[in-house]
Amino acid sequence: MMRSLYVKFAAVTIGIMVLSGVIAFFVSNTYYQHSLKPQNDEKNTSIALEMAAFIENNPEITITDYLTNMADVGYQLYLVDNNGQEQFFGAEFRENNLTDTEIQKVLDGEIFHGMVHFPRQTFVTGFFANELKNSIGVPITYQDETYALFIRPDIKLLFNEMHLLFGVLFALTIILSILFVLLSTIYLVKPISRLSNATKQLAKGNFQVKTLETKRKDELGELSTSFSQMAEQIEKNDRLRKEFVSNISHDIQSPLSNIKGYTNLLSDKETSEEEKNQYTSIINEEISRLSIMTEQLLLLSSLDRDQQIVKKKRINISSQLKNLLMSYQWLIQEKEIMLSYTLPELEIDADPSLLNTVWDNLLSNALKYNHPGGGIDIQLTYTEEQCSISFIDTGIGISDEETKRIFDRFYRADASRTRSVKGTGLGLSIVATIVELHGGTVSVQANEDNIGTIFTVKLPL
Ligand code: ADP
Repeated sequence: MMRSLYVKFAAVTIGIMVLSGVIAFFVSNTYYQHSLKPQNDEKNTSIALEMAAFIENNPEITITDYLTNMADVGYQLYLVDNNGQEQFFGAEFRENNLTDTEIQKVLDGEIFHGMVHFPRQTFVTGFFANELKNSIGVPITYQDETYALFIRPDIKLLFNEMHLLFGVLFALTIILSILFVLLSTIYLVKPISRLSNATKQLAKGNFQVKTLETKRKDELGELSTSFSQMAEQIEKNDRLRKEFVSNISHDIQSPLSNIKGYTNLLSDKETSEEEKNQYTSIINEEISRLSIMTEQLLLLSSLDRDQQIVKKKRINISSQLKNLLMSYQWLIQEKEIMLSYTLPELEIDADPSLLNTVWDNLLSNALKYNHPGGGIDIQLTYTEEQCSISFIDTGIGISDEETKRIFDRFYRADASRTRSVKGTGLGLSIVATIVELHGGTVSVQANEDNIGTIFTVKLPL
């Protein structure tokens, strides 16, 4: 993966560089052809005219001396007279390709603009073309004789160092940028290939993918951070799933072995009638616990599976709570619990049967984990946005440590304190799931002076 991404990225970048180079060349060539070439022609024309004027105004000088001198300063010159007598000064032209008509026109008094008319196909390089055609021609009258003088700057003499300088600059720019592209691509691609490796590790079930660069401030750093968080979440889910399975197995196993033990005792001939009755009721209790647990597990799994399970209706929660309290009346009396409540009329949109499960669990817990003669208070309050239902008991209470875990599946607090109370540890996780599905929250806190517990459910209105 690293290989191909690296090659692709480097190739694309270098390709872009080449393409930009080509485009830049065409654009600057257009600029040269339209703007610089005429300027160059104009400049050289005025130089040629000045040379001609100087010669014409100073007939006493020797024309060959003057032109030799000009050649030394940096010009290539070609002088021809009416009789076809020709002379060259300075560096040689690569091609002497002037036509006779072109020469004749200059002798007849015209100016020859070879530079501006030099063919376009040659691009900017036309500037460097060392050809006689690529020159400026002016007529001269010297000692009553007519001449045609063709000049062009000796590029090699004048610009050789510049030429080299630009060549080196150009070559170095290309080499260095390719080098830096190759290097920076490594830097860019590396975290991606690390992520790819981490993904493979994760797929194999190895969650310890801490080697990722999460210090980077860019998108890749963000991606790495999200990836690490995802890995942590997956690890947590995996751990919970394993715990869940082992908890289920244990919680099914223990009532089953109890049942097995007591059925063995039942078939023992020496067991008295009274003992048999006692064992039967224990067996019945274990069976009903198993049955409650399977029901709760089924409910949890359907809550997990789809959110569609929540069928909301307009319901009056104060009457719903009062009905529930009625059905618990005999249990409350049996435990000699003092019950009080403040339940103003309130209608909300919720799933009646799921919400009833919530109240049922909270109320049965407040009863189960209470002392004989203790108290339970239920408070319903509401504002514009939300309603809040609290179950306040004066029971055995919950330690800070435990409050963090009681909503976990199968979690049951300190066995020594709750030993006498049978339970599955699933009730509160069902409560939390249902409340969450309704967009609400459930929280727990110690009742004042550490006597008992307060569970508060908040639902949006
Ligand atoms: P279960 O009651 O079946 O054990 P729950 O999920 O309903 O399972 O409760 C989890 C644990 O939270 C209980 O085992 C108990 O230790 C603790 N708990 C729940 N409600 C109360 C309460 N009102 N007072 C004290 N402890 C509680």
